[in-house]
Amino acid sequence: MMLSASSSSSISSEDRSGSSSDENSEILDDDGTAFVPYDEELEPVATEEEAAAYTLSVANEEEWELVLQRRFTGELEVGTWCTCSNCSVNIATKKEECICCKEIDRVGEVMENIERAGDCITLHPGFQDVCLNRWVLEVASLNLKTKAGKSYRAIFNQGRKTESEFLRSVSYRQFTRLLWEFTGSSKRHPLPCCAYKAIRTAFLSEDGQYHGFEDDES
Ligand SMILES: [Zn+2]
Ligand SMILES: [Zn+2]
Repeated sequence: MMLSASSSSSISSEDRSGSSSDENSEILDDDGTAFVPYDEELEPVATEEEAAAYTLSVANEEEWELVLQRRFTGELEVGTWCTCSNCSVNIATKKEECICCKEIDRVGEVMENIERAGDCITLHPGFQDVCLNRWVLEVASLNLKTKAGKSYRAIFNQGRKTESEFLRSVSYRQFTRLLWEFTGSSKRHPLPCCAYKAIRTAFLSEDGQYHGFEDDES
């Protein structure tokens, strides 16, 4: 069962048009100095084709949901659907995370572009630095806001997230940027199982609890 560019419209263009004008106004940094935030208007937006590549080409979406559920519960063993060798459902939080990177067309394109066709996305030469380097994540967080417009950094500074939660949530966003080269208050794509595993292993939860991509936003 492959994800392909051919069907379903679960990711629509209006989901990605989120940037609002106030994000471009001057704001004060923690130390009181003014800076102009990165202008999201300048970022390329994924084409319809790219966005559609993330949706499923199954005739029956309900059937696909069932397949994901069976993967999540282990009824379908990981070896039957993961072909990148790095997926594991042990720390998956929901069925939507039970997708192998090699089922995502965009992953194939990205890896092919760097002449690593067929390799797992976590073997992308940028993955470690972009998604797992804490200093990169700290800096990247300065530009990130939740769907509700709150700064990731501020939420962390206010003690509303633990450090590992904060780093994981930034890493999920960084992963999306590594694949799609755009960001903003746009549609959040679920990550493939292998990427969740690598990120959660790098930034272990203090209490063993993990949140999915969308659940992380408030
Ligand atoms: Zn896999
Ligand atoms: Zn993979």
